[in-house]
Amino acid sequence: MDARDAHPDEEWPLPPPWMWNCLACTELYKHMKRASEDVDAARAAGRKGVDYDPFDSVVGTQIRLGRHIASDHTEDLPEADPSCGKCMTDVAAQTPEPFILEHRARHVFAPPRIVGLL
Ligand SMILES: [Zn+2]
Ligand SMILES: [Zn+2]
Repeated sequence: MDARDAHPDEEWPLPPPWMWNCLACTELYKHMKRASEDVDAARAAGRKGVDYDPFDSVVGTQIRLGRHIASDHTEDLPEADPSCGKCMTDVAAQTPEPFILEHRARHVFAPPRIVGLL
């Protein structure tokens, strides 16, 4: 048991089966998890800010995966989540659909704490 067990908001959801049936999803997901593990390891080793950029590597891989899911798996995307401020803002503001779909795609694979950041 580590500290993350106490924070369900930080937990990575288990990706749905259709992601594993898609080569692009599988590859992009692996890159994303590896990027965040690299950042965690670097942070644990006290090398903060030295030779990695957590924002670029982690967020960049999430954006790539989110874009792919939004464009290739549109019918598998979840509906707007009433408990998510960003989903509700998108609905209210009538955000252009590609951005809405990319955000909803993040609900499929990202921990709740960071889904709402983009
Ligand atoms: Zn895919
Ligand atoms: Zn949302």
